[in-house]
Amino acid sequence: MHNLHLLIIIVKSKELIIRAIKIALIVGIILNIINQGDYIFSLEFEKINIYKAILTFFVPFFVSMYTAITMKMKFHVGEKAIENITLRCKICNSCKNLKKEEIIPFCDTCNENTVWKLSSIKDKKCNHS
Ligand SMILES: [Zn+2]
Repeated sequence: MHNLHLLIIIVKSKELIIRAIKIALIVGIILNIINQGDYIFSLEFEKINIYKAILTFFVPFFVSMYTAITMKMKFHVGEKAIENITLRCKICNSCKNLKKEEIIPFCDTCNENTVWKLSSIKDKKCNHS
């Protein structure tokens, strides 16, 4: 359930949504020109399939959101923590508490081999096990 809570936090991020909308506008216009450009440039607007035109904007929006979300869920070293989280190293099982906006560090034991996974979202004590 930690992942679901985090997913909701990520999806609500304004910055991410605004970027996805910008990408959707640019890519959507280009795709519409490719798909229905003949009708647009010959001013035969009545021949344009409005449903296809609208759907064409949704595709890049969702691809952009999906890509951003999967990247944020991977907790790469050097990126900012999106919330107060506890990460656990997949390799040595040590853990680290991070505050929101704190830069994600390497694991003290594994250094550049670090692979973090989410352990919890709230500020729980980091139990070494
Ligand atoms: Zn480690």
